[in-house]
This record gives sequence, structure tokens and C-alpha cells, in this order.
Amino acid sequence: MRLLTYARAREKRAGLLLEQQVYDISSCSIYFGMEEMPASILEILVHDKEEPLRQIYDHILENRRDGEDLPLQCCIGLDEVRLCAPIPRPRKIICLGRNYRDHIEEQNAKAPEKPLLFSKAPTAVIDPGESIVIPKGSTKVDFEGELAFIMGRTVKNPTEKQAEEAIFGYTCLNDVTEREAQFGEKQWFRGKSMDTFAPMGPWVVTSDEIGNPLDLRISTKVNSEVMQSESTSMLIFTPVDIVVFAAKTITLEPGDVVSTGTPGGVGVFRDPQVFLKRGDTVEITIENIGTLHNPVDAEK
Ligand code: MG
Repeated sequence: MRLLTYARAREKRAGLLLEQQVYDISSCSIYFGMEEMPASILEILVHDKEEPLRQIYDHILENRRDGEDLPLQCCIGLDEVRLCAPIPRPRKIICLGRNYRDHIEEQNAKAPEKPLLFSKAPTAVIDPGESIVIPKGSTKVDFEGELAFIMGRTVKNPTEKQAEEAIFGYTCLNDVTEREAQFGEKQWFRGKSMDTFAPMGPWVVTSDEIGNPLDLRISTKVNSEVMQSESTSMLIFTPVDIVVFAAKTITLEPGDVVSTGTPGGVGVFRDPQVFLKRGDTVEITIENIGTLHNPVDAEK
């Protein structure tokens, strides 16, 4: 399944994406005579509604086979909706530092012996198409294209199998970073958490549909120029490794977002360096997921 969050009137709604059509999950559940589903992906996960979600998906597939048109409140064209971040306000965002070999080599660093975790503020999340805003006075704002995953279950001290089963799906995340703050301060939190520094989307592809998450092409373009291009097979710690390690001591909950780290090619380690500026566009594309596109603006 592909799940997305989209804006309808003034509210955000959860939708299933099928061949360029968005099916409103909550409206479909009523139409199919089921109990009403929560209208956000986070609530669907928190209330453990994955099973009814799959039933809705099957109902939609069935109806399409029968050639029945679903009513307008259930179905709308993808090009008619404004996409939002799949989880607009996660409860946690955990990120990985130094998790691709080429990114470690470009900074002459050593590979970490265990996953290097840090956090981004949930308030940094923005939608596909929304502007990354360079704060006043900042000149070193950088892009980091990353494969992120969304937790579907609560886990504490899981086995590898439990960790794997707890991963609901995958999306793209741009771990935008203010390098001066990151390298000039002992903690990375501020440089990683500035408003608009976590573009996410365009949607979530569930674990059963992504294929092998360790064999996906990931690339980042700035103004159509390829800056990062790598395979997720080069990840040092896999999503399962990360969940097992993190959840030994930190309870992971439904809707938590974990970003797996960035490949080589970020702006700060290029020669000459490349930093984002007003008028730029950043595109992160991950195979089997899609493209997250964000323009860049400057704080007024
Ligand atoms: Mg990163």
C-alpha cells in the first residue's frame, strides 16, 4: 500500500494511493459499511488499525475490478490534491549519523561501532513542495537525502523479527542541516532542528510493498544536478539493526520516524562547497517510493 496525507479544505486527511487516484481512508470506510477510520496515518497506527486499513484497500481493489466508481468524497485525482508530510507531527524523529561508507570517507571519519543516533525536532517537518527556509544570517544550510521509515508498533527490547515486523513503511526525508551550528556546537540538535529542516514525503510505501529496503537507488538533486547517488545496500546499519539497537533503551512507538542517514555527496564536503540558497530546488528520489521536491527560500 501507498499511504499519503493530503489537504482537503482546511483539514489534513489520510489517503490510499492507487494508480494516480487518492482514496480517502475515512470516507471509504463508511462507504464500505465499516467502522469509521481515523483521518490521519498517525492515528491509524496509534489505534492499531492496520487490519481494517488492509480491508479497505482490498475493498477498493475489488470495486475497481467490478468497474464501480466510488463517490467523489472517497476518491480524487492525485494531481488535484496538495500533498502533506505523511506524518506531519511525529512524536519522535530519530536520525542516524555516518551510516554510509562513502559519507564517512568524504569527511575522513571512522565508521561508528554502533549506530550513531541523534534527534530532530518534530516541529521541523514540512510538506512536499513546501519551502525550506534559510534562517537569517545562515550561509551554510545543507541537504541530506535519506531513506526514512515509520514505526507501526510499540517496541521495547525487540528481537530482530519483532523489529522487522514493527516497521510499517518507508518514505523520503531531507535531513536539512545548518552546518555552522552543527559543527560549532557540541550537540547537533539545533543545527538539525531549525524550522522547515525536515521535509518528508511524498508518501509512505508499506514494508510489504517496498521490496528489499536494502536494494533501493537513492539520489538527491539540487537544481536538477545530481549531488548524491547511491544504493541503500551501502547502509552500514540496516533499519532492523537500528530498531534493535535504539529500542534496547528507547521505546519506539507507532508513527515514530527514523531516518537512516545520508550517502556521500552532501554540500559541505564538496570541493567547492555547495550550500542551499533562495531559489534552489531540492529533489530526493528513492526507487519504489518516489520523489520529494522542495524549493528553497530565505527568511524575510
Ligand atoms: Mg542525516
